[in-house]
Amino acid sequence: MTLRDDGALVLFSGGQDSTVCLAWALERFAVVETVGFDYGQRHRVELGQRAVVRGALAQLKETWGERLADDHVVALDALGAMSDTAMTRDIAIALDEKGLPNTFVPGRNLVFLAFAAALAFRRGLRHIVAGMCETDFSGYPDCRDDTMKAMQVALNLGMDQRFVIDTPLMWIDKAGVWAMSEAIGGAPLQKIVVEETHTCYLGVRGEPHVWGHGCGECPACRLRAEGFFKWRGSKPVDDA
Ligand code: ZN
Repeated sequence: MTLRDDGALVLFSGGQDSTVCLAWALERFAVVETVGFDYGQRHRVELGQRAVVRGALAQLKETWGERLADDHVVALDALGAMSDTAMTRDIAIALDEKGLPNTFVPGRNLVFLAFAAALAFRRGLRHIVAGMCETDFSGYPDCRDDTMKAMQVALNLGMDQRFVIDTPLMWIDKAGVWAMSEAIGGAPLQKIVVEETHTCYLGVRGEPHVWGHGCGECPACRLRAEGFFKWRGSKPVDDA
């Protein structure tokens, strides 16, 4: 892996996907900063895991510890206030008539990327690394590759920059995310992903499953668990 001398800003929620993206960036960039967004999400427990995961990754490899730099948390209360969804209010998760889960906060990733680019501009970071994925994207249109490319063009025009939005998970499924973390950091990274990252939409930590913490029933937990068992080459999800 050739180390790039430019810097990256990783959209880091404390979840599985963004943790693998952070490890991916730490392998590539000389300076890696992280940004998290607090918009009143119901699974706010993931924000509390951010520092834990960052600390664990910094310990995992000496080079990672040297490259991992500042963390930023941006409060986006307005996003939560404007969004009448299951993610921010205490209502059941369901699918709408277009098959979109009501966990979708409209435009959420577009807002995240705009704030991330403004921060990257200030920090002199060229790469913006994000965990959007078109394969298991749950119907979220702001996770699509075309959306990311359009956003990159808009940000570069609007800020007169040459940002690159990197989405290393775009074309792989959840089993592929497990495989990627194993390829990057082996068993020690898998242990961090399983034990410390948070995915559950309901914000449940609870007793650990073999695939990590969570309620085991919400769409995010099921995707994570199914990906884990597919990756491990065995089935059933019924030990959840
Ligand atoms: Zn869950």
